[in-house]
Amino acid sequence: MPNLELSQHMPIKVQDGPQDASGNPVFNFILLKLASRCNIACTYCYWFRDAEVYNKPAVLTIEAEDAFCQKLEDHIRENDLDEFIIVFHGGEPLLYPKHRFVKLLQKFNGIEERTGATIVRGVSTNALLIDDEYAEILAKYEVNPSVSIDGPAEIHDKHRIDFKGKGTHADTVKGIANLRKAGLEPGIIAVCNPDTDPEKLVDYIVKELGIKEFDILPPDATHADNPPAIDAYFIKLFDLWYDNYAAEGVRISTIDAMIGGIMGGMAASDTIGYGAVETVTMMTDGTLEPLDVLRITGDGSTKTETSVLKDTLQDARKDPRWLGAYTASLTLCETCRNCEYMDACGGGQLAQRWSPDNGYDNPSVYCESWKNIFGHIWTRISPTLVLDFQEPLTEAKSQQT
Ligand code: SF4
Ligand code: SF4
Repeated sequence: MPNLELSQHMPIKVQDGPQDASGNPVFNFILLKLASRCNIACTYCYWFRDAEVYNKPAVLTIEAEDAFCQKLEDHIRENDLDEFIIVFHGGEPLLYPKHRFVKLLQKFNGIEERTGATIVRGVSTNALLIDDEYAEILAKYEVNPSVSIDGPAEIHDKHRIDFKGKGTHADTVKGIANLRKAGLEPGIIAVCNPDTDPEKLVDYIVKELGIKEFDILPPDATHADNPPAIDAYFIKLFDLWYDNYAAEGVRISTIDAMIGGIMGGMAASDTIGYGAVETVTMMTDGTLEPLDVLRITGDGSTKTETSVLKDTLQDARKDPRWLGAYTASLTLCETCRNCEYMDACGGGQLAQRWSPDNGYDNPSVYCESWKNIFGHIWTRISPTLVLDFQEPLTEAKSQQT
C-alpha cells in the first residue's frame, strides 16, 4: 500500500476560475435537459426512477429556452467568463425537435458573438435518433457527441432495450456510423454488467469501433438497491488494460482516475475520487436542480423552486437542495475518513453513498469492491514504480564500467 496521508478534515476542492461577490465559484457548466422523456427503456436507468420527471414538460419549453439564453448571456457578462460549457442531456436529448435545436444553437452563436465567450457544447445520447441530418447539425454547430453503448449486441441488448423489450444495439451502431460520416468522432460511455466479461466490451470498443478513449462506469445504485459486487469485473478490466492495451494508447477514464488517486493525486472523476458536486441541471421547465443522478435517491429528491424564469444562474448555488448535495459531497462518513483509500476513493460517487436511513452519511455501496480494486491496482503498479526509480541508477552504473 502507498503511504497515504490521512486527514480527518477533507480539503475542499474549489473550482478554478472566477468567483462571485460572496467568494463562491461562478458556474461555468450546466447539464441542459432538452427532453425529460426517452425513446428507449434501459433497465438500469436512474432517470425514470423518480416519478417527478413525469411532471416536467416532455421537451424544453420555449419560455424556459428564452429565459435560459437571456440568463446565460447575463451570467457570462456579469462574471466576465471566457468559456461556458453546456452538455445537452435527457432522457434522450435528441427528442428535442431538430428545427428548435438548430435555433437554440444559433442563439448560442449569437451570445458568443456578442460576449466574445466560447460556449462549448456536448450532447449525451443513445444515438438512436442520429440520422444524417442530425449528425450534420451536430457537426455544423460543433456539438461533441458522447454515445452510450455497453459493448457488443450480446451484452448491450441485455439492458439497453426499447419499450417492446427489443435490443437497441444495431440502431446505436447506425447512429455512430452517421456521426462519423459527418466527421464527428464520438466519446463512448459504457455501463459495466458485472456478470459479463470485460474483455468482450473492451475488444469491441477498441477493435470493432476503433475507439481508444472511453469510459466504463459501475451501474448507478444506492444502498437501497443492494447491487452485485463489481470488484471481479474491474480487476479483470484493469489487468486487461494494463497487460494488453495501455501500451497501445488505450485510455479508460475510470481506470485513469483510480491510478491517479492511488498515486496520491486527487482522483476526482464522475465515478471515483473526492471532489465537490457542483453540477447544476436545468430541467425542461427551467428549474435549476443539483446533479441529475441524485434523483435516484427518491421521488422529488432533487426538486427545487429555483428557476431561470425568475432567478439568475448563480442563484442555483443558494438553493437548499443544491447546497445539500454540495455539502454532502464534501462531508465523508467516519468510515471513509479513516479509510486507507480515502484520497483515492473519496467515498465513491455521491449517489452511491445514499441509504434510506442515513442519507449520504455512508461509504459507497461499492465500498468493499473499491477496496479490493484499489488493493489490486496497487499490487500491480507498485513494482513498476520501483523499477522506474531504479532504471537511471542502473544506467549510470553501466556507464561507469
Ligand atoms: S438512454 Fe439514457 S435516459 Fe434513456 S432509458 Fe437509457 S439510460 Fe435512461
Ligand atoms: S467508500 Fe470504502 S473504499 Fe471508499 S473511501 Fe469509503 S471506506 Fe474507503
